[in-house]
Amino acid sequence: MIWNLGSINIDNFYEVPHLPAPGETLAAVSYGFGLGGKGANMSVAAARGAARVSHIGAIGADGRWTRDRLMEYGVDTPHIAQIEAPTGHANILIDPQGENSIVLFQGANVQLTEAIIGTALAEASHKDFLLMQNETNGQEYAAITAQSLGLRVVYAAAPFDSFAIERLLGRIDLLVLNEVEAAQLLEATGQSVEALGVADVIITLGAQGCRWVSNAGIKQFDAYHVEAVDTTGAGDTFTGYLVAGLDRGMDMAAAIDLALMAAALMVTRRGTADVIPDLKEIQDEFGT
Ligand code: ATP
Repeated sequence: MIWNLGSINIDNFYEVPHLPAPGETLAAVSYGFGLGGKGANMSVAAARGAARVSHIGAIGADGRWTRDRLMEYGVDTPHIAQIEAPTGHANILIDPQGENSIVLFQGANVQLTEAIIGTALAEASHKDFLLMQNETNGQEYAAITAQSLGLRVVYAAAPFDSFAIERLLGRIDLLVLNEVEAAQLLEATGQSVEALGVADVIITLGAQGCRWVSNAGIKQFDAYHVEAVDTTGAGDTFTGYLVAGLDRGMDMAAAIDLALMAAALMVTRRGTADVIPDLKEIQDEFGT
């Protein structure tokens, strides 16, 4: 079972003729919205990877549909609290060249209480997984609680913040980060990933695949070769599938392989949570 303490966002997309200048009022050409947030994406990915996942999060009254959507996608939602705050949202402006500019409001994602997190984790069992990213509050409390209950703690260090990760370092069993985040961590701590004291570290390398750093050494995995059209959500799909594989009893190498397949298929699609592939689609594509 995976307990995912994660963000839930409403993504608002506006196509605009150009990105607005200071003081300019601009009419959008089109509008659309969808479920977003790294947390929600990872819950959906883990559920599509056939793991049981319970999302721990918070939304406002305006975001009740996001909880329904997660439930439709097979995610357990009893620990998504509705609170007196706006749901987190991202207003994404996209110009004709595909360049974007984003205003993010964290809203309910950073108003989680220890009661919400503690009540959820009280239902967890030894050897379950706690998964977290850096888009909610309460990470340290969740990690301490999870550790005391014997859960394995997985942290995706995005968006990167050196203070957030340094507070968690002694409490993480598996750290997943991309190349840019790995460089930022090195700069912030002055330590290589090998010296962090985290048992398993996975650095994703985009089209180059990933690197797994553990006590056993460094192992490189190639990405599956695909025609990439949109890399949005690739990292979230990778991590959700990785933890789903581990939760279903795969060893690390097998779980990484599954995550590489899922992420490769994801980059052939446009969109985020709604288009994360399921296991059947992965089997059809890669013949596993
Ligand atoms: P994003 O922020 O775009 O979601 P990220 O920066 O967190 O992604 P990346 O390292 O870019 O993470 O990609 C995550 C994983 O997705 C890679 O390890 C790889 O498995 C897969 N991936 C990304 N780009 C490609 C590609 N062009 N071809 C095949 N697989 C890819």
